[in-house]
Amino acid sequence: MLGGGMPELLAGNNPNERHIPRMDFLVLFVFYLTLVLISGVMICVCSKTGYLKGPVRRGTQIFSYIIPECLQRAVLRLHHYLFHTQNRTFILLHLTLQGMVYAEYTWEIFGYCQQLEFSLYYLLLPYLLLIVNLVFFTLSSVTNPGTVTKANELLLLPVYEFDEVLFPKNMRCSTCGLRKPARSKHCAVCNRCVHRFDHHCVWMNNCIGAWNARYFLIYLLTLTASAVTMAVVSAVFLVRLVVVSGLYQETYVDDLGHLQVMDTIFLIQIYRRSQRNRQESQALLSPPRASLLVPLHTVPKRRNRRGHHPQS
Ligand SMILES: [Zn+2]
Ligand SMILES: [Zn+2]
Repeated sequence: MLGGGMPELLAGNNPNERHIPRMDFLVLFVFYLTLVLISGVMICVCSKTGYLKGPVRRGTQIFSYIIPECLQRAVLRLHHYLFHTQNRTFILLHLTLQGMVYAEYTWEIFGYCQQLEFSLYYLLLPYLLLIVNLVFFTLSSVTNPGTVTKANELLLLPVYEFDEVLFPKNMRCSTCGLRKPARSKHCAVCNRCVHRFDHHCVWMNNCIGAWNARYFLIYLLTLTASAVTMAVVSAVFLVRLVVVSGLYQETYVDDLGHLQVMDTIFLIQIYRRSQRNRQESQALLSPPRASLLVPLHTVPKRRNRRGHHPQS
């Protein structure tokens, strides 16, 4: 037992040193999630209703007095470059983020799952989805989305019916001067009319239209599937780790010196702490199966390091 005989030690050595148990990771995570959700809802509500238009305008005016004009111009130029011109910044950002996620999966989950004898097909599924995802990411990015030109204008005009409301017949694009097929739209970023225009995607650096929408859809599906697969593998790994190590039968001593039975919240805490102290724990990770228990078992001991030394 991890906490066997420890209450006396903790209570006896320094009675003044009492700490309320800190749920740092969980508290921060819940706080972060709440903040993101509230911000998202606020942005949606404000953009739809214009409820906060006045305060936002006044806030912008105040900022325009505080922030130097050259900095404001630089921010506006950067914003224009990122969102209103064709550039590969978001493609590089996308690949970097994806690379980091897969590096984390390989480094944190894959090796340990092999030690726990997970099926290799199951573990390699995220990599297979990554390959498919990258293929369709490339296809969405480089395929012509359906540019309306003089050559194909007459072919595209009869594809969808004109409703005489949003898409009147014989309407011409004010920028390209071409006749607009129904459901087409001029993309200001790419400077072209796109057949069955959906949106301009900065992550693809391309419009999503009639000819690449199917690739984009498969890209989204494989991206979601890879995220779900990695989440499932990680969850199963953690559950199996707890079962194999028998952590649920363990006890620990909290910061108030009380003996506690292991619960889910504490397991999440020590998992995060064990990640933080990974480098330290790596030295103990040589024998394959037993090694999985080491980082988790060492962490509860660390909780008592403030002048106390656990016996186990
Ligand atoms: Zn146009
Ligand atoms: Zn576009």
